[in-house]
Amino acid sequence: MNATPPPPGPAEAQPPPPFLSIRDLRVRFRTEDGVVKAVDGLSLGLERGRTLGIVGESGSGKSVTALTVLGLHDPRTTEVTGQVLLDGQEVTGASESALERLRGAKAAMVFQDSLTALSPYYTVGRQIAEPYRKHTGASRRAARLRAVEMLDRVGIPHPARRVDDYPHQFSGGMRQRAMIAMALVCDPELLIADEPTTALDVTVQAQILDLLKELQRETGSAIVLITHDLGVVARTADDLLVMYAGRAVERGSVREVLSDPRHPYTWGLLGSMPRLSSDPDAPLVPVPGAPPSLLAPPPGCPFHPRCAWTGEVPGDRCAGERPDLPAGRGAACHLPPGRRHPDFIDAPAGPRSEA
Ligand code: SF4
Repeated sequence: MNATPPPPGPAEAQPPPPFLSIRDLRVRFRTEDGVVKAVDGLSLGLERGRTLGIVGESGSGKSVTALTVLGLHDPRTTEVTGQVLLDGQEVTGASESALERLRGAKAAMVFQDSLTALSPYYTVGRQIAEPYRKHTGASRRAARLRAVEMLDRVGIPHPARRVDDYPHQFSGGMRQRAMIAMALVCDPELLIADEPTTALDVTVQAQILDLLKELQRETGSAIVLITHDLGVVARTADDLLVMYAGRAVERGSVREVLSDPRHPYTWGLLGSMPRLSSDPDAPLVPVPGAPPSLLAPPPGCPFHPRCAWTGEVPGDRCAGERPDLPAGRGAACHLPPGRRHPDFIDAPAGPRSEA
């Protein structure tokens, strides 16, 4: 009898790694007051064609994570450990020239404040055309044509004329569309949108979110959508990661997390926003207290100073033992399984398009 095990067949082959893979990411800022632990052991994966929503309050580590994926931190003041892989290419520790090649072509970012992100001194068309020329070596004329094409693609009327406008000649919604055009001009496979609709009224917000989804359907790109607004996530994302104090505290599909939230912080976020089924006159309840200082995060569960549920956990585990986030669907919380806040079973109301 041949005792040699057969070679692994196709069924045993490892699945390819996700397009974006983050493992045990830690980001520390050296400041005069001490070391800020901005991201503290984050892991996630994202496939092409899917949208991951990352939610949390200011200072939860969402935007720092996004900047790290693009290698945009100053190495003189920032220490980054762990692994960030973009399409198999290492971002952490990569040279500036390697990062330059990744940015724009592999991944690009849409920022919240288009007035700050767009230079007032250059036309919108030039700001879209420049990164295209840089990455492709296209001529000025070809890059200008590409800028017109991109403005048309993101729904700017009369793009051949508006390409020569300056940012102040665009409305807020049009500037945001122009930023999306700028981010997509080199066909990146990952788009990171950091609060892309916060400054916009609710109708324009819905249009911009619809545009992102439409462009994703066309290109098959992956999207990371960073927001404090669960309504935006409900409308746009496939999967959801809730961050608190630099750590992921809950993850799952959007449907799972919104219909069966398991972490008290997620309950707090849901309670602080309007829902379709709630009494329109009932006051919204903010998460009590304030996020912790990341110079000296609390021991144990970082949410415990704000959490109303510590009494449900036997012993003093909340203050003394940091809960881990399990792989796959789950929450980093010591509450016994099956313990669930009864009030948060309805999906929140997302922004609605009037179109
Ligand atoms: Fe609250 Fe304890 Fe769960 Fe942290 S571990 S969220 S303090 S119940």
